Amino acid sequence: MVITEVRIKLVEENNERLQAFCSVTFDNAFVVRDLKIIEGTKGSFVAMPSRKLTDRCVGCGCKNHLRARFCNLCGYKLDENRAARDADGRAKLHADIAHPINSAAREHIQGAIIRSYQEEKERSKQPGYTCTYDDYDCEYDEASYAAVVSEMGGGSRAGFRAHGSHAPRGTHLRGEDKSGRAETSTGGGFGAGIM
Ligand SMILES: [Zn+2]
Repeated sequence: MVITEVRIKLVEENNERLQAFCSVTFDNAFVVRDLKIIEGTKGSFVAMPSRKLTDRCVGCGCKNHLRARFCNLCGYKLDENRAARDADGRAKLHADIAHPINSAAREHIQGAIIRSYQEEKERSKQPGYTCTYDDYDCEYDEASYAAVVSEMGGGSRAGFRAHGSHAPRGTHLRGEDKSGRAETSTGGGFGAGIM
């Protein structure tokens, strides 16, 4: 398994722990997106893409995120402590969508990503820098991210605020425009975001 590309999207510095989003390509053939680089107490680490865990309301059967205190559909008051907890007592609210299955693979992937992150930070100081990570989805919610950090052992810091900046900034080519005209950047970028 060869990592053939890593794309990094640096996050503004006012984020205290979330340092970047990234994607990883394996063997020029398979991409995993939405990994996160997070500043931990012992240096940066990589969080795998994850989804929120849900369960069903005992009242109506509607699915709710485990953090929900009331059912989205019927308003039934839900048990706030219903999420399973790990050995350290942290609630298990997310499950990885894609992840390494042994520590060698984790180190291999994390090492490549952290190296790319360092290189990207250097590159970002150059004039004309554009990032190559495509933001297709802007779904980025602060509570969810804070929970991931907490689950990953990053701890949650009082007063932590994530900057909801995972939105497209118009610096990438956005695929085919239906008019047949490439929608180029507004920011003077050389959007190279097409895979
Ligand atoms: Zn319900």
